[in-house]
Amino acid sequence: MTGAMPLILLIEDEPQIRRFVRATLESQHYQVVEAVTGQEGLLHATTRSPDLIILDLGLPDIDGLDVTQRLREWTLIPILILSARGREQEKIAALDAGADDYLTKPFTTGELLARMRVAFRHQAHMLHASEPIFQVGELCIDLAQRRVTLREAEIHLTPIEYKLLTTLAKHAGRVLTHRQLLKEVWGPGYDDTHYLRVYMAQLRHKVEAEPARPRYLLTESGVGYRLAAE
Ligand code: CA
Repeated sequence: MTGAMPLILLIEDEPQIRRFVRATLESQHYQVVEAVTGQEGLLHATTRSPDLIILDLGLPDIDGLDVTQRLREWTLIPILILSARGREQEKIAALDAGADDYLTKPFTTGELLARMRVAFRHQAHMLHASEPIFQVGELCIDLAQRRVTLREAEIHLTPIEYKLLTTLAKHAGRVLTHRQLLKEVWGPGYDDTHYLRVYMAQLRHKVEAEPARPRYLLTESGVGYRLAAE
């Protein structure tokens, strides 16, 4: 991204969605290159060096999950997936395979641009040294001191609760699947989402003013959780 606006590769077979996404991106001065099939998308990914990929899961040749897996064999470029309602399992598999986030069709201009901002921010964060202090709203996590405060009052967390919160904070704004969180917090081999739900409920009771209407620890129904980034 040397001065020029980021190049976005859009892999999508539906012309209306391509038109909508292209218009949205160009209104923000992003450069856009389009691909209609998975094969064409993989080719552009290697030859055009895009800065971010928007990838439809339902493509005519190879599906978006395969495209994600093939891309992740050689690149960490941010991938946002587009999925149709009712294709939850595919979406979760793509996230587990390394996609950064998803949008469910139909989505708005605002949602698309917000997800892109998070993906770019996250990539910058992974490339440069991370900040020792994470702050969103009135919630503050001091990673160096291992101290969590809400409205400047200290919150006491168990080691698991702390790990869960800091894992979400490291990827703030992005969705993490149940499987990714279980692996990261409890280690490989744990696949009991009930466990995760129990700890998330405890954490919300400590961190949220209204645990039933969370402001920070957001549920992505059927997929996982996301820590609010703004
Ligand atoms: Ca499609």
